[in-house]
Amino acid sequence: MNAPSAPDIAARIDALLPQTQCTRCGYAGCRPYAEAIADGTAPINQCPPGGSATIQALAELLGRDIRPLNPANGVESPPQIAWIDESRCIGCARCLAPCPVDAIVGAGKFMHTVIAEHCTGCELCIAPCPVDCIEMRPTPAPRPNRPDVNRRRADAHTGRLLRRAAERQRALDAKKAGAAPRAPEGGAAP
Ligand code: SF4
Ligand code: SF4
Ligand code: SF4
Repeated sequence: MNAPSAPDIAARIDALLPQTQCTRCGYAGCRPYAEAIADGTAPINQCPPGGSATIQALAELLGRDIRPLNPANGVESPPQIAWIDESRCIGCARCLAPCPVDAIVGAGKFMHTVIAEHCTGCELCIAPCPVDCIEMRPTPAPRPNRPDVNRRRADAHTGRLLRRAAERQRALDAKKAGAAPRAPEGGAAP
């Protein structure tokens, strides 16, 4: 039987990661970290949301030694979710795009709120808020991590951002084309 290829191994590693896309591992998301582990450039102990259970699963998959979570990447902690103090929210919407799983809803100039069911606790919405009205709170009840759901929501989020960027680029290109000097009849534009 052929040995699994690097992309196959990366996919199997990725399937063991929590899919919060929190970047605490030092990579842009779970898949880039999985690829770094697969190509041997990252150790298996850099994912705080996955903690010791993920390290053990990765060690079993890859035949590597179990190592404690690297404290440089963070600590293993009870699950938390974001909470927005709606009395202070100014409706700037800066927290929407950074949320990898679209767990925040709200319209411009109106208060925003977190859909607790979808929040993975990644904390990526905290820093962009200009009035510091987002804080992390313990989850009301214990809940299992749902990597498959997180991945689907993250893929949908990324796809939407890419589509919007492409639409903006098309609009910009059309505007530039409309502003370009027209070629005179029978000749080329200067
Ligand atoms: S969940 Fe783990 S692997 Fe995924 S981005 Fe966060 S730290 Fe990295
Ligand atoms: S609401 Fe904040 S903490 Fe929750 S998933 Fe979105 S960005 Fe992460
Ligand atoms: S970034 Fe802060 S102030 Fe702006 S909409 Fe989000 S929660 Fe409200």
